[in-house]
Amino acid sequence: MYYKAKNLAINNGRTYHLAAILRRNGKVVKIGENTNKTHPRFKRQYADGTWASHMHAEMNVLRFAKPGDELEVMRFSKCNHEITMAKPCCICMQAIKDAGIKKVRYTNWKGEWQNLNL
Ligand SMILES: [Zn+2]
Repeated sequence: MYYKAKNLAINNGRTYHLAAILRRNGKVVKIGENTNKTHPRFKRQYADGTWASHMHAEMNVLRFAKPGDELEVMRFSKCNHEITMAKPCCICMQAIKDAGIKKVRYTNWKGEWQNLNL
């Protein structure tokens, strides 16, 4: 399952390789990577008026989230694909809270899981 997440993330064609895993009652609901695609619900406009044409991995799976779900976020480094820091950005954090996610954990610089308190 983490293998699938890694594959998605590594092959996403972007500079950063992230994967997010959405779980409900311990079961995987959706695995998503950061992508060039966007989604109407998470559209972002820059200050100059142009629209962001990408979506973070967290947002990618939050489309399928129900309150009480759990989220895992992993990042794989560019060179050796080792697991590295994947702490959700503040925009994702807000979306995670809005979605009613109860538990979040992400991989840190040492490649270890770290729990986030919401
Ligand atoms: Zn984000």
